[in-house]
Amino acid sequence: MARIKLEYIWLDGYTPVASLRSKTKIVDGDVATFTLADAPVWGFDGSSTQQAEGKSSDCLLKPVALFPDITRKNAFLVMNEVLLPNGEPHPSNTRATIPDDPGAWFGFEQEYFLYKDGAPLGFPVGGFPSPQGPYYTGVGYKNVGSIARKIVEEHIDICIAAGINIEGINAEVAKGQWEYQIFGKGSKSAADQMWVARYIMARIGEQYGVDVELHCKPILGRYNQPLDWNGSGMHTNFSTAYLRDVGGKKYFEALMAAFAKHIDEHIAVYGPDNHLRLTGLHETQSIDKFNYALSDRGASVRMPVNFIKNGYRGYLEDRRPNSAADPYLVAGRILKTTQTVPTT
Ligand code: ADP
Ligand code: MN
Ligand code: MN
Ligand code: MN
Repeated sequence: MARIKLEYIWLDGYTPVASLRSKTKIVDGDVATFTLADAPVWGFDGSSTQQAEGKSSDCLLKPVALFPDITRKNAFLVMNEVLLPNGEPHPSNTRATIPDDPGAWFGFEQEYFLYKDGAPLGFPVGGFPSPQGPYYTGVGYKNVGSIARKIVEEHIDICIAAGINIEGINAEVAKGQWEYQIFGKGSKSAADQMWVARYIMARIGEQYGVDVELHCKPILGRYNQPLDWNGSGMHTNFSTAYLRDVGGKKYFEALMAAFAKHIDEHIAVYGPDNHLRLTGLHETQSIDKFNYALSDRGASVRMPVNFIKNGYRGYLEDRRPNSAADPYLVAGRILKTTQTVPTT
C-alpha cells in the first residue's frame, strides 16, 4: 500500500476556449496495480470555473483516462469528464459529444508558442528577431535559444513515461514556435492524450517562467509588428476503418462533399480567431473556402502523397483546426460529418 497522488484534470467553462484545471486527491492503493477503475468520482466548486451558479455549485469529476506521472512519486494524471450532480454530462463537457467509432484514428499536430515576459522565447525585449527562415527545425542558440529545448525534451520524456503516444517534435517556422504530434486509436483517445500533453507542458513551463501560448496568431494579434509571422495550427489527421480498408474515389468524393456542406459547423469548432490564420498565406486555405488536394499544404484537406495511389485509402489531413481548438470538438465534428456519408 502507498499513498497515491491522483492529479484530477478537467476543462473549465471558459469561452471561447476552455482552460485546464487540476487538483490533487490522495488515495491509498497499490501503485503497480492501480487502474482507472480505482480512481473515484470526485467533485469541485463549479462556481469558480464558470460551470455553476454559487447557490448550487457542485460539479462531478468522472475519471476517463489514467496516465502515470513520473514528475511525482506514486502519482498519476487523471483526465476527467465534468458531470452535473445528477450524473448527466455538463454543458461544457465536449468529450461526451463525440460519436463512438472504435475504428477511428486521430493524429493531432499541436503547434504553439513558448512565451516569456509577454513575448515569444527568443524575441529581444521590445523588438523582433531576424525574419523567419532559420527557425523551422532550427539548431543552435541563435535559432532556438537555451530554454526551449529543455522544455520540449522534458515534455517528450514525461509524455512517453505516461504512455502518451507522442510521435515527434520540431521547432517551427516562427522563433519561439514548436510542434508535437499525438496519435491515438478510437474516437476519444487521441484527444484525451492531447489535453494531457497540453497539461504536462503547461506544468513544465511553470518551472521556467514560460507559458504556452495556444492562440493561433499571437504575434499579429497581440504585438503590433512589421513582419508577418506564422500562426499556429492543430492539423488533424484522421481515418476510419472504412477509409483505411475500403476507401475508393467515389466514397472519398462523397466524404469531401459532406465536408464542403458542413464548412460552417467545422469552422465553428476549429478554434477562435481562425480568420487571422486561414488567410490563404503561410500554407493555409482561406477560411471561407473548402478544397482538397494531393500533397498540397495550401488546401483545406490534404491527401497524403500515397493516398490516391493506394486507391483513395488511408488517412486525410484537415489543416484547418487551429492550435487553440478543443481536440474533443474537432474529433467529434469530423466523425459527425463522416457518419453522414453512407459506406456501402
Ligand atoms: P506533416 O507535418 O507532414 O503534416 P506530421 O508527421 O507532423 O505530418 O503528422 C502526421 C500525423 O498523421 C501524425 O500525427 C500521425 O499520427 C498521423 N497519422 C498517420 N497515419 C494515420 C492514420 N492512418 N490515421 C490517422 N492519423 C494518422
Ligand atoms: Mn507536422
Ligand atoms: Mn507544423
Ligand atoms: Mn500537418
